[in-house]
Amino acid sequence: MIIALKPGVDAVKQKQLIDWFEEMGLGVHTSVGSERTVLGLIGDTSKVDMELVESLEIVDSVKRVSETFKMCNRKFHPEDTVVSVGDVKIGGGHFAIMAGPCSVESEKQIVEIAKEVKAAGANLLRGGAFKPRTSPYDFQGLKAEGLALLKIAKQETGLPIVTELMSITDIPLFEDVDVIQIGARNMQNFNLLQEVGKLKKPILLKRGLANTLKELLMSAEYIMANGNENVILCERGIRTYSDYTRNTLDLSAVPMLHELSHLPVIVDPSHATGIARLVSPMALAATAAGADGLLIEVHNDPMHALCDGAQSLRPGEFAELAERINAIRTVIKT
Ligand code: PEP
Ligand code: MN
Repeated sequence: MIIALKPGVDAVKQKQLIDWFEEMGLGVHTSVGSERTVLGLIGDTSKVDMELVESLEIVDSVKRVSETFKMCNRKFHPEDTVVSVGDVKIGGGHFAIMAGPCSVESEKQIVEIAKEVKAAGANLLRGGAFKPRTSPYDFQGLKAEGLALLKIAKQETGLPIVTELMSITDIPLFEDVDVIQIGARNMQNFNLLQEVGKLKKPILLKRGLANTLKELLMSAEYIMANGNENVILCERGIRTYSDYTRNTLDLSAVPMLHELSHLPVIVDPSHATGIARLVSPMALAATAAGADGLLIEVHNDPMHALCDGAQSLRPGEFAELAERINAIRTVIKT
């Protein structure tokens, strides 16, 4: 249930109303907007007398929210959420590009790529240290050493880092990580979602290979219900019967998620297509569709990459793409 309060309500009366709902055993999520405050009730609201609430002097309107996702629901929080990572902002008109290799391979590799993507305009450095690989015989990432190398790249460039967490037991290692990525394969690892919900860091939540938007939002809800409201959603392609691409990029997810939720939505055209030459056109399309940012794999030697070389842009290609992204952004703003 959402309760829109009248503009400029008395703080004491607002608190009395919140206390009353809490006495009924309900959670109250308060969203203070530029024009008005919206209270979102979480829990069994069947006992709440809607007409009584509506009749109160400070209340403007009352609506039942049928969706099972509440905290990430735009009805609960009409204004866009802006997630801050240091000086970088994502959402609500702020656009951020996360770029870097699929996997951290060596200090030289990650520092070189970090410098190149920064010079081209990237706002965050990505790089996997813990890699979810289909085959147990493939490179599994440098793990703790990879995190240490990301930290060096951050010191060298000032770029905040985003990297994937696969297991609850590794959380203590992620203290210096700026954005924790929950990968597609772990989108419904509910224990992991609950634990990252207890952290303060922004969480980049990728859509699962075969998951619906509702399921993605319910996973965001797991994180938010545990106290962490800094969630960035990521469309990274889903499994369909398309035969020439790694996945199918569901671009309509961008405007639909924006309609359903106030959380920022970014797009990963690298994993969505699996083919480097398709990354730029899809990145531009995602920008035009209103994405709040992009996640792009960049490697300085794709032929020898230990993971996902085929979908990685070279730094020069990334720099060219970054310019074209800016051009699209200028057009859609007008
Ligand atoms: C990645 O970002 O390197 C990755 C493994 O992504 P996804 O979880 O979307 O497959
Ligand atoms: Mn990858």
